[in-house]
Amino acid sequence: MNIEAQIFHYRLDKDGFKVLVFDLDQTSTLMHSGGALLGSKIVEYCEKAVPDFIIAATQWVRSGNKFAIASFTDTLAAERSTTYHREPHYGGKNLIKRFVDQVLPTDVASKVYMVGYFPIMHDNHPQEFDKRSKNYHMDMISKYFEIPLNRCVLFDDSMSNVENAKGYKAYIVDSTKGFQFSDYRP
Ligand SMILES: [Mg+2]
Repeated sequence: MNIEAQIFHYRLDKDGFKVLVFDLDQTSTLMHSGGALLGSKIVEYCEKAVPDFIIAATQWVRSGNKFAIASFTDTLAAERSTTYHREPHYGGKNLIKRFVDQVLPTDVASKVYMVGYFPIMHDNHPQEFDKRSKNYHMDMISKYFEIPLNRCVLFDDSMSNVENAKGYKAYIVDSTKGFQFSDYRP
């Protein structure tokens, strides 16, 4: 068992976190989908999965904890890109699921809750949630698992998502490296 992963896990537990949440682009994979990814790029996108993300998610889920992905990738972006470029694009849950099913063990992948949603694309985006944050995603995740928001922790390479986090903890990830266990700096 990976010792760094064990320490990471132990510290999250000790600090009372029940739900571990990762951003997708440049956090869980080193590539950026741009909101929707061309079908032919999916293999490369999965090949660039970040090792610490895979280890952290696997260990966390297999210990009976809750895990989610919160991304700005969106099925609406995929529909628009597919129409515009006349080539199939994948976005939102469709992209997250393809990634998760490919890079995580089956028993782990099946337990991942996925929120793919880009607030700016939605005219009916609820006003109470900032559009430059993952606050809407985190609210969905907290409700889905029935665990208070302050027991959820997000890792994300976008500074605005970290700075605008309301009601939960968020930690910055270096976008050139993707998630690393050392990113947890309570
Ligand atoms: Mg990102």
